[in-house]
Amino acid sequence: MNYLIRSKKLVTVSQLGTVKDGAMVIENGKIAEIGIWESLKEKFPGLDVMDCSNYVITPSLVDCHTHLLEFAPTSLYPVSSETHFLAGKAILLQALSAGITALGEQICGHPLCDFSKEDYQKAVDGIPIDVSFATTSISIGFENLAHFTAITQSRGVTQYDLSDPILVQMIALLSDYPGENIFINATPANFTEKEVPRAGEIIYTLEELKKIVKIYHRLGKRIGAHVGGEEGIKLALEAGIDVLHHAHGISDKQINIAAKQGVKVVATPMGGTHLQPNSPEEILKFFQKDIPVSISTDSYLPPYPGTSWLPFQDQTLKGPDVLMLIAQPAMQLLKKHHYDENKILALLTDNPAKLLGKDDTFGRLEAGLEANFLVSEGIPGLEITAIDQIKHVFYKGVKVIDRL
Ligand SMILES: [Zn+2]
Repeated sequence: MNYLIRSKKLVTVSQLGTVKDGAMVIENGKIAEIGIWESLKEKFPGLDVMDCSNYVITPSLVDCHTHLLEFAPTSLYPVSSETHFLAGKAILLQALSAGITALGEQICGHPLCDFSKEDYQKAVDGIPIDVSFATTSISIGFENLAHFTAITQSRGVTQYDLSDPILVQMIALLSDYPGENIFINATPANFTEKEVPRAGEIIYTLEELKKIVKIYHRLGKRIGAHVGGEEGIKLALEAGIDVLHHAHGISDKQINIAAKQGVKVVATPMGGTHLQPNSPEEILKFFQKDIPVSISTDSYLPPYPGTSWLPFQDQTLKGPDVLMLIAQPAMQLLKKHHYDENKILALLTDNPAKLLGKDDTFGRLEAGLEANFLVSEGIPGLEITAIDQIKHVFYKGVKVIDRL
């Protein structure tokens, strides 16, 4: 169906910036034209009009670092392997209802999950949400460190295996984008502090890391790493890692080095490592150094305890529905520093789309891109944080969430 949709303002996150009293022509699931309502209505007199002139239209959100299909189902629901993906689909619907139409999912290997990447891909087939998969290895900070990989699935591997060139190459070949392909520090994952006393421990030597990076680069792939703390970040930067996931506790000097090396950052202000997560001030510093930074939930995750910029009172697991909420402190600080609202919204749209390598498909409102957009009471994250303030979610031009 082709139509014209009218809005109070369009925050395009593209060269067009913000268009007041704007409209978009949607043709065959794509954005065909963007402009002022008055001129587009004259140019396209025959088109059906969807009047959203009381609302703001923005690109829909991209959460580029999540664990919704592997870790979340067994954490949230009493599922068996037969019903695992039924839970996964419920979780994806929740993400969609929170305005997220694209995800960067991690497949790490998990003691309870014997699924291949193909199984995960099949599970999301036909769901109106775009999912990219990063295949990874993972090291969990239990009393006895536990290591898994996307290839070996539920079978644990040794710390030595993590650097095995054949295994690393198999993981790298399957990976769609630079998610947290390796864990430089052991992770607390979504376990409580007591369960994971060794979270934070460094897993690799610099030599091992350099070899792993070389394998990815030889295959023409970029590599991302789960990393936190100055020691781990130093290793990541020296080894030539392309994307730092979390980078909690990064020093000012390391921010400068990352900027010089063209490293990207996926900030996770809710938690995800053994350290206090990215503060709004830290995200501002990335901005000031022109480091492409995305904000992501890493969900499902318990919020890091005692974090002053988070509104949560307890440690229950939080999902992608809190993306706007955890991004707001940083987004508002950027606004205070006079950054343009389009540049700020890119944290949740264009920047993560670029990280996924899909910025020629979605992430902005721009002619030629998929019509993936939100009709909301304000700019997501910056002005609104409650998911019911998102009135409609459109995916490829089709309304998939309707709250009016
Ligand atoms: Zn993660």
